[in-house]
Amino acid sequence: MSEQAPVSHPKQRYVSTDVEGFDALAELALDMRSSWNHATDQVWRRLDPILWELTQNPWVVLQTVSRETLQLALADPAFRKSVDDLVHARRGAAEAPAWFQQAHPQSPLRCVAYFSMEFMLSEALPIYSGGLGNVAGDQLKAAGDLGVPVVGVGLLYQQGYFRQVIDKDGAQQVLYPYNDPGQLPITPLRKPNGEWLRLEIALPGYSVWLRAWQVQVGRVKLFLLDSNDVANYPAHRGITSELYGGGPELRLKQEVVLGIGGWRLLAALGIQPEVCHLNEGHAAFAVLERARDFMQETGLSFEAALAVTRAGNLFTIHTAIAAGFDRFAPSLIDTYLGGYAEQHLGMTRHELLALGRQNPNDSSEPFNMAYLAIRGSGAVNGVSSLHGKVSRRLFEPLFPRWPTEEVPVGHVTNGVHMPTWDSAPADDLWTEACGKDRWLGTVETLEQDIRRVSDARLWQFRTDASLTLVAFARERLSRQLAASGASPEVVDDAKQVCDCNTLTLGFARRFASYKRPNLLLHDPERLLRLLTNPQRPVQLILAGKAHPADQAGQALIQQWMHFIQRPEVRSHAIFLSDYDMHLTEQLVQSVDVWLNTPRRPWEACGTSGMKVLVNGGINLSELDGWWAEAYTPEVGWALGDGQEHDDDPAWDAIEAEALYDLLEREVIPEFYTRDEQGIPTAWVARMRESMAQLTPRFSSNRAVREYTGQYYLPAAAAYRERAADNGALGVALVDWRHALAQKWAALRFGEVKLETASEQQVFEIQVYLDDLDPESVQVELYANGVGGAAAERVEMQRVRQLVGAANGFAYRAEVPAARPATDYTARLIPRHDGAAVPLEDAHILWQQ
Ligand SMILES: *Cc1c(COP(=O)(O)O)cnc(C)c1O
Repeated sequence: MSEQAPVSHPKQRYVSTDVEGFDALAELALDMRSSWNHATDQVWRRLDPILWELTQNPWVVLQTVSRETLQLALADPAFRKSVDDLVHARRGAAEAPAWFQQAHPQSPLRCVAYFSMEFMLSEALPIYSGGLGNVAGDQLKAAGDLGVPVVGVGLLYQQGYFRQVIDKDGAQQVLYPYNDPGQLPITPLRKPNGEWLRLEIALPGYSVWLRAWQVQVGRVKLFLLDSNDVANYPAHRGITSELYGGGPELRLKQEVVLGIGGWRLLAALGIQPEVCHLNEGHAAFAVLERARDFMQETGLSFEAALAVTRAGNLFTIHTAIAAGFDRFAPSLIDTYLGGYAEQHLGMTRHELLALGRQNPNDSSEPFNMAYLAIRGSGAVNGVSSLHGKVSRRLFEPLFPRWPTEEVPVGHVTNGVHMPTWDSAPADDLWTEACGKDRWLGTVETLEQDIRRVSDARLWQFRTDASLTLVAFARERLSRQLAASGASPEVVDDAKQVCDCNTLTLGFARRFASYKRPNLLLHDPERLLRLLTNPQRPVQLILAGKAHPADQAGQALIQQWMHFIQRPEVRSHAIFLSDYDMHLTEQLVQSVDVWLNTPRRPWEACGTSGMKVLVNGGINLSELDGWWAEAYTPEVGWALGDGQEHDDDPAWDAIEAEALYDLLEREVIPEFYTRDEQGIPTAWVARMRESMAQLTPRFSSNRAVREYTGQYYLPAAAAYRERAADNGALGVALVDWRHALAQKWAALRFGEVKLETASEQQVFEIQVYLDDLDPESVQVELYANGVGGAAAERVEMQRVRQLVGAANGFAYRAEVPAARPATDYTARLIPRHDGAAVPLEDAHILWQQ
């Protein structure tokens, strides 16, 4: 990949200062690495402590601080030296060969483009909503740590996701403060002559100009597009106004900008990724534009170009329900992409729509972005083991008559970027135990190393965290109340809330019904007794936003607010408004128990619970998403029976009771049972196991290494193989698929013969292939798995041609006699070197 042409010039746009040393500060301020590697915090604190505390945005501090302060600070040799050292360290970290360079020296993988609708990198760049952005942001950071060559592609929203205020009645109000690009840690991409890099994409009737920005995230880059260009028609300037706002038409325009605009931006930058990773279906139009690029380069048809390029595309699904996928009315797709399909892809509008439909011929069926992504990818994965399974069920309709287990969806369980979520004291503790570079390579030794930390050290660390939390909660709650017009008495009371010796439960997440944020409120009186027990009190800190269109979610917030406002609850439960990354950090770094109560299996993975691991918090969660694979009794507590009960209210009631029981009988007593030194030894033991066993496993370090090994490297190799020789393999694959499509209906099975010996049974079956090349199919014996084992698949050998039949063959296979012959059924499936079956061709014929 080459990046010669356009460059970014921070100074050209924002600042004109000749203060000696300013450039060094700008370099630090514009690298998001400073948001997790807290080494630079002292610099910003020194320049403007108040603004720094309020914004956590180095770039804002640097631009706001007066010239005098800046000059004075930089004239201090000690300050100047620390800045130079930090710059030196930053460059060193960016250039040193990392895990990827060492583990995969001759790799065919040069660049992965990671497309996502949202990226959660820092509160200084509010272009995220929740979990999806969290996964994107944390994986980008971990890719940088590990040296995996990734570039991110996303959108710059003028307003981001909404901001939340809770009014006096406990109702959610929404605000959309403006994201001033001048105050965000981003730099405009410009051409070498200084001109803005702008892209033009055609929408019906008018073209749209897109501006391009760059975010430096350690050693990797994130590129962002926005449509707020003055040359645009007013309606188009607002395409990138809000994340997840507006109706389907706005969403479609955003997805066109992200997918098609995003791929074009890479091309304009001279970047040619082998791998395109679609984080959710929002970016699926990128597969069309990537194929179009290849068509232009080679002159191939769209179909052949897609057969080549899809090998390099990976689609990650994040939802557990079909309703979670974006689906667009056919007329909308036709309006926005019909002309593009005809003029640039050489296909009809009907053919385009078919790519997003289960039944290509059903003209009323909406266009499903996940279907497009699947048809345009060489691999598909879910985000936890359970979610992989759920997704295989979800996509069964695209693979009719295939067993569910063979629906081609794998999984990589998400992880979080531990350096982002650990507190400074946690960082110290882990550094003592495991060294400074612990997240930069493989992490096998961490488990043993952290286990050696003493009870006393661990408990001291936790009690310090409680002090920090109480101070934070008081400050935040009193500010929040003052801003919403509360009386001075109420604001003063808020400065007394919480207690640092009380067990603290944290519950913060999107208030969506499936997350059951009110499960704990099922029996308010019981909850009240539990919280206010004088010997063993409990305090609860809540936070979360409900989507502005989600009335049910907002009602759940209000239900909590009404509970909290009861005088008897006093400070035992508080709700902190405007759940964002900063608030998450404060909570996950210090609560004792992180609660999560989703309805199984709707939490595809969940990541917030992973953020407490490194900080010594313990999870109490439904056996869903990541917790279904993480939980063992020594690392935390589990809710649920590991089965699905849909949204049955009777089951919700049972689980609510179980939750109270668990808290009363296990969690609370364990926290308050202390030894002679005042240490809750059983609690500390559980916490130690959670830290040791789970932190490395649920880190984005592990997730990114898994993506690299399981998906990126094979995808890069497959793409290169298909692209070679002007896409010759792609052309062959298209021919193969056409032949299968034409001839499949005529294929049939004939006689079956069975010879049984004591140990073995031999199947011989006749297959009539019409005039299909026998090399293009495979015959197998198939038997269901028993007792949870995987199904048996035994390839049959073509042993002879049948007399008198033009293309009839006998196939033969031997299987152990242990299973009855009636367990086995023969089947015929497509086969081609390097092709993914059934992903690329889902024909299947079962013996009757
Ligand atoms: C981590 C995080 C999430 C994701 O949390 P889950 O509820 O586990 O999906 C959402 N929002 C914010 C602000 C977060 O920090």
